[in-house]
Amino acid sequence: MSSIVIAVDGPAAAGKGTLARELAAFVGLPYLDTGLLYRAVARLMLDAGLDPAENSGEFCAASLEAKDLERSDLRTPEVDRGASLVAKQPEVRAALIDTQRRFASERGAVLDGRDIGTVIFPDAALKFYITASPEIRAQRRFLQTGGDPAAPDAAEALVAMADALRQRDGADSSRAVAPLKIAEDAIVVDTDSMSAREALSHVLAIVDERIPALKRRST
Ligand code: C5P
Repeated sequence: MSSIVIAVDGPAAAGKGTLARELAAFVGLPYLDTGLLYRAVARLMLDAGLDPAENSGEFCAASLEAKDLERSDLRTPEVDRGASLVAKQPEVRAALIDTQRRFASERGAVLDGRDIGTVIFPDAALKFYITASPEIRAQRRFLQTGGDPAAPDAAEALVAMADALRQRDGADSSRAVAPLKIAEDAIVVDTDSMSAREALSHVLAIVDERIPALKRRST
């Protein structure tokens, strides 16, 4: 079986990154976190003193290199906002389509993002849409980023985090090009009441059933 693509889309902080990475390891496919592409373009623009909301397309086509995806400063709140601004520009999206398709062309891949099942790989063998309520996502992101639930300002920080996620989801879902939406043939997985491990087992059981030829490591 070659060139099998599994699309994993969903809103910010729904746990799709961890899930997609682990899924890829279990089924032996390469993994690409496509959010890193948009984050890296935003980071490069900010470093150059440019506004990520404007003309990122040219910049992205000319400057983005593989090593830019490995930088340790791609997950700051400034880059979160910048990536969303960069991602709504049609020129940027067009410039990144080939990069994503090429990535999967030889050995297939698991890719996570916002438009993998709708735009980049509409014929993906399997599409997941991973979601969770805004409150649960804000809580998870708070803990992941080292937030202390016992700190005096924890409630305030949690509200700020939920607001930032809401804004980013709003921008990602309402943009004109490749908005975040559920592909018609996607399987929706709501992880509100699932641990990361349970979500992975759930998804792996679906992969076993839908793509039996994809031999995988057992859990
Ligand atoms: O997934 P992550 O939160 O790292 O993505 C950062 C931003 O990049 C998202 O908020 C979204 O604006 C953009 N993105 C996108 N399409 C993708 C992946 C990410 O528009 N396939």
